[in-house]
Amino acid sequence: MQQSQGGADMNISTVAVIGAGQMGSGIAQVAALSGTRVIMHDLNYELAERGLSQIRKALARSVEKGRISREDSEAALSRICVGRELSHACDADMAIEAVVEAVDVKLRVMEQLDSIMKPDAIIASNTSSISITRLAAATGRPDKVIGMHFFNPVPVMKLVEVITGYDTSRETQEATCSLAEKFGKTPVIVKDSPGFVANRLLIPMINEAVYCLMENTASMEDIDKVSCLGMNHPIGPLALADLIGLDVCLAIMEVLHESLGDPKYRPCPLLRKMVESGRLGRKTGRGFYDY
Ligand code: NAD
Repeated sequence: MQQSQGGADMNISTVAVIGAGQMGSGIAQVAALSGTRVIMHDLNYELAERGLSQIRKALARSVEKGRISREDSEAALSRICVGRELSHACDADMAIEAVVEAVDVKLRVMEQLDSIMKPDAIIASNTSSISITRLAAATGRPDKVIGMHFFNPVPVMKLVEVITGYDTSRETQEATCSLAEKFGKTPVIVKDSPGFVANRLLIPMINEAVYCLMENTASMEDIDKVSCLGMNHPIGPLALADLIGLDVCLAIMEVLHESLGDPKYRPCPLLRKMVESGRLGRKTGRGFYDY
């Protein structure tokens, strides 16, 4: 690992969140609640505003349920602003990209962030499966590129996988872990390996559940019931796939298949067909279940 400027003592008071979908808006929410200022950017203003409106709704629910005070909710909202242009991220101490899980899109975003961010700013990716080393190589600061992998729903899930690429410095790793803790999360450091740890375990299990469904081994409700009642999982694999997004599940399975080269990771044809048909899960109102 390289040594470089910055580190755990680095003060990250503003983060730029790129991509205001379900993960980006969740990340922006926990960041703002932790006292961090947030610049939120998406492909266009409407998409970023949609992310902000998700945050408003989620915070209002938390106030209703007595989890946070109205003052804390208002203070968090006041810390978030929408950056119409990606270049508005230039004031941030760190960027966390949460754009679609497509390698070409992410490489482009990394290049763009590298060209606009302050030289000592960290660039983190919330990718579920793409190599951090590969994303880092698209920048001129590979020591300051790291994986910061949150889980869905971000405000609820405690884990952040912190993924170190080939060149990630110890200072970048320490600063990222400190930030995860500031967000109220528990960081676990993992090496840059396909699917990291969480998705190496989880996504093949979801893929097998889709095979069970395709082969009529059981109904989808019963496949989920087996997992909940027999393995004590809080949610079944097909319902979880709907929550994650079937497109995201397929993209991760493809990365595992291509990079590990083992046919056991082949994506289930039914998963592929559902993505092709536009049934992406909760975010499109239809996946294995209807919403
Ligand atoms: P999503 O489809 O809800 O959101 C993606 C957002 O990125 C969209 O709003 C889209 O408009 C925006 N976007 C696309 N290209 C962009 C660009 N060039 N610049 C700015 N914004 C752009 O997807 P998501 O579920 O939030 O996933 C985002 C990332 O988080 C992916 O890398 C995914 O693998 C990862 N992730 C997802 C989950 C999950 O459960 N969904 C969990 C952990 C990590």
